[in-house]
Amino acid sequence: MTMGSEQEAPSRGEFTGLSAIVTGGASGIGLATANLLADRGAAVAVLDLRVDGLPERLARFAVDVADDDSVTAGVAAAADRLGGIDIVVNNAGIGAQGTVADNDLDEWRRVFEINVFGIVRVTRAALPYLRKSEAASVVNTCSIAATAGIPQRALYSASKGAVLSLTQAMAADHIAEGIRVNCVTPGTADTPWVGRLLDSAPDPAAERAALNARQPHGRLVSADEVAAGIVYLASPLSGSNTATVLPVDGGMQNLRLRPR
Ligand code: NAD
Repeated sequence: MTMGSEQEAPSRGEFTGLSAIVTGGASGIGLATANLLADRGAAVAVLDLRVDGLPERLARFAVDVADDDSVTAGVAAAADRLGGIDIVVNNAGIGAQGTVADNDLDEWRRVFEINVFGIVRVTRAALPYLRKSEAASVVNTCSIAATAGIPQRALYSASKGAVLSLTQAMAADHIAEGIRVNCVTPGTADTPWVGRLLDSAPDPAAERAALNARQPHGRLVSADEVAAGIVYLASPLSGSNTATVLPVDGGMQNLRLRPR
């Protein structure tokens, strides 16, 4: 590039030349991940229910991961726009509170359609593109809830338990063709989702303070911190990682601390 040219300097991130799709990429952990991937040089497409208001540099496709046709069309359109798919971040997910007795079977099906079958749909649609990639990587957003036995979270926990076992089974199935599959298990992360839960409490500030105090490091995990874990696992820098379960949780899953 000549001095004084108005062309942008070429990106030199480790994702230069790679293409990524991020489900649930319009908010929270997914948006932080999409932005970080783009910062590091990836061509990124966000697949989400609503995709208005996203930064210009992110391609965007309105996709419902609970709908077969929507996923098939959205993944194909994203691959067409990006010129292939090297990286899939399966991040779209919804929460659910209650015991087995509290959630009826329709609610169980609704959450599994998104949190579990959404990953199956998107991965199935992306596999033909991943098989053509020299740097194929799938990263699933799991949760501490997969193994923690959190009260009042039976349905959500079971869905994330399925994400954990799916990650490891997929890693085994696709290692021979060079496709890595990993997941992150975030602790409670400061995203719009958690913000909405806090706002619905009688005293949101007190609720936030109590939630912070329950974390080993005294605060919520940030969306950027979870994104950094996802981006590491998506990156060629983690080329020897597959079936990895990466906690981003302030130590919650591995430390044995008394509550503060
Ligand atoms: P968020 O609500 O801020 O973002 C989730 C995004 O997923 C939204 O943009 C939403 O529109 C999208 N989405 C929901 N249903 C969808 C569907 N059917 N099709 C396409 N997109 C859909 O939430 P977040 O906190 O950023 O959560 C992201 C992921 O992280 C989820 O899988 C969640 O289970 C997981 N997680 C979150 C936390 C936390 O404390 N925030 C902790 C552990 C794991």
